[in-house]
Amino acid sequence: MTVRTRFAPSPTGFLHVGGARTALFNWLFARKHGGQFILRIEDTDEKRNTAEANQVIFDGLNWLGLDWDEGPDKGGDYGPYRQSERNAVYEKHLAVLEAGGHVYEDEGAIRFRSPRKMVVVEDMVCGRIEFDMSNPATHPDMTIRRPDGSWIFHFVNVVDDIEMKLTHVIRGEDHLSNTPKHIELYNALGATPPKFGHIPLILNHEGKKLSKRDGGSSITYFMDLGYTPEAVINYLCLLGWSPGENRERLDVAEIRELFDLEHINRRNAIFDLDKCFWLNGQHILAMSLERFVQLAKPFVDKAGIPYGTEAALLPALAIVKPKVKHLSDVPDWIGFLFTEDFAMDAEAVEKSLKKPGAAARLEALSEAFATVTDWAHASLETTLKATATTLGIKTGEMVHPARVALSGRSVGPGLYEMIEVLGKDRTLARLERAKSLAAE
Ligand code: GLU
Repeated sequence: MTVRTRFAPSPTGFLHVGGARTALFNWLFARKHGGQFILRIEDTDEKRNTAEANQVIFDGLNWLGLDWDEGPDKGGDYGPYRQSERNAVYEKHLAVLEAGGHVYEDEGAIRFRSPRKMVVVEDMVCGRIEFDMSNPATHPDMTIRRPDGSWIFHFVNVVDDIEMKLTHVIRGEDHLSNTPKHIELYNALGATPPKFGHIPLILNHEGKKLSKRDGGSSITYFMDLGYTPEAVINYLCLLGWSPGENRERLDVAEIRELFDLEHINRRNAIFDLDKCFWLNGQHILAMSLERFVQLAKPFVDKAGIPYGTEAALLPALAIVKPKVKHLSDVPDWIGFLFTEDFAMDAEAVEKSLKKPGAAARLEALSEAFATVTDWAHASLETTLKATATTLGIKTGEMVHPARVALSGRSVGPGLYEMIEVLGKDRTLARLERAKSLAAE
């Protein structure tokens, strides 16, 4: 039997991290078992069903690299993949329930008559759970269709899982209490329920369910701020799953290899943006320069940095790669390399250039650099250090004014890397120019 899993979001206008994690776990499970991953849009609530709300889901999943085999834009054998287009399918299944005497009308709504029995859920994550459905006071008959003809989630969700031949349903634990109702529907429709796996909730630092208001609760947040998809995938999978051995930084290929439902944590996961931030830096450090360029370039282009050719951009990106934590910071980090009109940070100028003797240091450095023929990190470093020694000052006392003179600020890429990228002419010109700002 081919494994078939799905992600079935409602288009709410944003892709919640909990939803993205559900998508990820379903995708991982399908990929690991050589199965298929299906995207189904649960858009029975017409008010919220806008093109933009759908697009947010596609964009988020595409950005994360969670490709689907069947879905609204892709088609497949069991479409359409939007619930709003599946009315005929629901009518057909409603007729089956009617024929079996499983439904009745109640003030214009259609309700499902619960068999009022014990329902056992054999959950892949939570284990065996028995639900006593016998008491109508605690488990009233569920509505499956509203008086206005619109469908209720439980019914269309089950019908689609049957029709689309899904074998495994992995979803948030908030749906665990719905599952016995869903199993009643499967039975009434004469279908075998899929295997269920309910994954723990994601809570904020206050122990409450992560909501829209919590920073980082939407995938768009990570996309806009310049997180890398690899870090976010890594972070999402650690929300409730762990490969053991305290492994933290994992590549998606590794995650695909190691992922299993047995290692899902039963405890709720605490959302920790700091950890995701840390992972992002780790992934940037570890990734190839090629990949970094691919991810950073859109941010650089958007900021309108006049880098000219990609060949010129490459060395600039290479020297900031070990330092940046967010891709959205890249334009700010490299801007000074592509314009002579870069801002001079007042505080940095005050601290490093307004010191007595600063002008003389820049002058000495400029003279020394003028003689350098091998314009590369090692010889630049040797030259700067030798100049400091000659002046009887510590290396740092040369490094700081030089950095501010060349970049306008006190933090940035490694000094020698930056001088190498600037090249001789621009370095000498900038040292010369900064002299006028520096104290005698
Ligand atoms: N549309 C439902 C949700 O977003 C899907 C639940 C399920 O995965 O069965 O919560």
